Amino acid sequence: MNRLSKEWGDLQEKLVQHRRTLDGKYLRLRNSGEAAHVAFIGNPKQRDQHWVNGRALTCPGKGCGFCEADEKLTVKVLLNTVDIDDGKLRIFEAPHNLFSDLFRLAQEHDLAEWSFSIRREGTGVINTRYILKPHRELTQAQKDKIAMADPYDLEMEVANGSSRMDPDDEALITEDPLD
Ligand SMILES: [Zn+2]
Repeated sequence: MNRLSKEWGDLQEKLVQHRRTLDGKYLRLRNSGEAAHVAFIGNPKQRDQHWVNGRALTCPGKGCGFCEADEKLTVKVLLNTVDIDDGKLRIFEAPHNLFSDLFRLAQEHDLAEWSFSIRREGTGVINTRYILKPHRELTQAQKDKIAMADPYDLEMEVANGSSRMDPDDEALITEDPLD
């Protein structure tokens, strides 16, 4: 087996972090095997959306033209997260079944006490899965930092109505194969 030196791994990690910084307020995992370690803060917010011409558009509900045209509706859940590796606050747009996983795990792993790993496996619309697991108990220093975070207004985020996505992120808004 070909083993890459530490320098390769360090540089790759640096570039991933750099890209996340450029990505701004949304947590994106683009490569298979890529993971983020996060704490979840605040309340979740549901976003129903349609995928139209390469954009995710929030469904306004009653009287929606896309619903009337039978455009597929996808349910997502927005969550504020603090990345415990780089300390950054980001919104994670979870497939609804991942939210169910989190809900279940949170029964035994207090969200105020634990960080979680979100790992992407696979690429493309059909093969992408997100695996959620408890990561580590939060240290007091981490908790203090998290307490300082000023979460995004998810209500506003939903009202704003659309999120820019890479074509590859279409996987995020299709029905999840884990269902
Ligand atoms: Zn609609």
